[in-house]
Amino acid sequence: MLKEELLQQRRRECTERYRRSHRESVRRKARRYYQKSKLKVIEMLGGKCCNCGNEDIRVLQVNHINGGGSEDNKLGNFYRRIVNGTRKTEDLELLCANCNIIYEYKRGKRTLNVEG
Ligand SMILES: [Zn+2]
Repeated sequence: MLKEELLQQRRRECTERYRRSHRESVRRKARRYYQKSKLKVIEMLGGKCCNCGNEDIRVLQVNHINGGGSEDNKLGNFYRRIVNGTRKTEDLELLCANCNIIYEYKRGKRTLNVEG
């Protein structure tokens, strides 16, 4: 193994050891970073539901206008990619939870099964 590779491996091991021994604070910081990124994205997308105008950040969600949300989830770091500009926002909009679910029914992503 090259010297650089050995150093990289050593760094990875140190990071992993730190994460294991500081699990709770690492988790708390990651959660705070995630929420700050989400808040920034909400701001970037206008700060309110584009259907009904609801501004309550507790219920605002990012909607993929043309679908593709699951692919975005697989890539990970969704909000962070938007904040740092590597994920464009042309195909995204803000919807509140109610409007988002109604939108999914309209698209046929959800169906009501009330028979029987
Ligand atoms: Zn709404």
